[in-house]
Amino acid sequence: MKTDSIAMAALGGLHKPGVVCIFGTGDFGRSLGFRLLQAGYEVVYGSRHPGNSALLPEGAKVMTHQEALKTAQVIVVAVHREQYGFLAPLSSALEGKILVDVSNNLRRGQYLESNAEYLSMLVPEATVVKAFNTISAWALQSGGLDANRQVLICGDCAGAKQAVVDLAHGLQLTTLDRGSLRAASELEDIPLQLFPLWRLPLYISAGLLAAFFIYNVIRDVVHARVTDGEDKSFRIMISLANKAFPAVALVMLSLCYLPGAMAAVLQLYNGTKYRRFPDWLDRWMLCRKQLGLSALGFAFLHVLYTLVIPIRYYVTQRRATFYTNLIKENKTYEFNPVMAWRSDSYLSMGMLGFALFILLGITSLPSISNSLNWREFSFIQSKLGHTALLLCTAHTFLYGWDNFLNSNAYKWCMPRSYILALVVPCVVLVLKAVLITPCMDRPVTRIRQGWERNARGRAPADNGSSHRPLIL
Ligand code: NAP
Repeated sequence: MKTDSIAMAALGGLHKPGVVCIFGTGDFGRSLGFRLLQAGYEVVYGSRHPGNSALLPEGAKVMTHQEALKTAQVIVVAVHREQYGFLAPLSSALEGKILVDVSNNLRRGQYLESNAEYLSMLVPEATVVKAFNTISAWALQSGGLDANRQVLICGDCAGAKQAVVDLAHGLQLTTLDRGSLRAASELEDIPLQLFPLWRLPLYISAGLLAAFFIYNVIRDVVHARVTDGEDKSFRIMISLANKAFPAVALVMLSLCYLPGAMAAVLQLYNGTKYRRFPDWLDRWMLCRKQLGLSALGFAFLHVLYTLVIPIRYYVTQRRATFYTNLIKENKTYEFNPVMAWRSDSYLSMGMLGFALFILLGITSLPSISNSLNWREFSFIQSKLGHTALLLCTAHTFLYGWDNFLNSNAYKWCMPRSYILALVVPCVVLVLKAVLITPCMDRPVTRIRQGWERNARGRAPADNGSSHRPLIL
């Protein structure tokens, strides 16, 4: 019978490093054993081939499953689900033991029930805890990177879970209790996910990149071919790419801040923070970090592509022609102080904006953001983030200068792409400017502190994601 007292017995044995049994001497079993031995635990392997210990970490013992299970209360089953069959005959010997299911599947929905629930049905006399499946054998052996330090745990017996929590803490790993064993299938799906939070930002960046690139090809290459019969297709590789990259970077940076402003407007409209945001807004807010990092990637490309401009054949050729013509016509190249101001200001805004952009990227790294308190983090991500957006927008305006109103800058009524790229950032900055005015900021702040416009008679509505602290 699964009782807390049985589990507490195991717990008692694990407060100080004790014996841990591992079934299976494969990659995961070996890495876990290596890490356990380092942490001072005694490791006993249960294997089909107890005589074969060549690859096992030094100091570990290897026995048959039958013998090994007698040595410890906690048994880690480091075997694939398909091979769990050998456990059924051991069922009575496993009574009262804690079985840690670490298994994963090859694809989602491969089996009706989770592997851990299957194990629990196979060995009902033991207490099953799902844990460690989100940690790779490599991370265990190499010491674990930050993102790989958290062990997700679920199970039906609190005492058994505590025993596994203690074990994980003994390995210098952090833990997160995800509830009962019914959550096991969720945990088993985690290693199968492929960049879930990156999907939307990647689709957006690919869509924006394609849109801006095609737009520039039509405007600069197709237009020249149709109207003047001129071939400007060579511009595709660098000139047009370097028009699309900054436009995508600017739009994506502003898309990081637009949902925060929209959330504030929604909260003002609803007069409460206790109402769920629409799902699309929720999903959008969850991937702001990924949006920002993608934007930073495009900004980097813009910087790289800009740095090579002086060595481009097309540029050196044009420069040579320009100076030759000046000499031929005996003209001088007059210094224009307005142009000097314009170019210096535009470059300076760009460099400062990019520097802040990098700072935003660095502080979004878990190792850095974990060392900041909430106020510091929101100061950097919100205040400095909006400043970066402002500087990058100013950089683009100064780049455009008088072209916004110049009718020659429009081809087939198509404005230059940076003019289009300015629309979203301008909307975000105007919204932000309105939201920080005292008459808007005060009610938003009160709402975020729990104040409700129609508080009387209203039960706190469903506590959705609007509880999450917002970075505006
Ligand atoms: P593996 O290298 O293939 O090792 C599996 C072990 O299971 C074998 O070495 C074998 O040990 C034992 N085994 C194989 N067939 C068996 C059978 N018919 N009956 C009894 N035992 C049998 O696999 P692994 O990579 O270590 O993965 C083990 C489990 O950990 C899997 O469920 C996997 O999903 C999970 N996991 C792995 C990782 C990872 O990074 N590798 C990460 C998280 C979770 P003996 O020869 O000693 O009996």
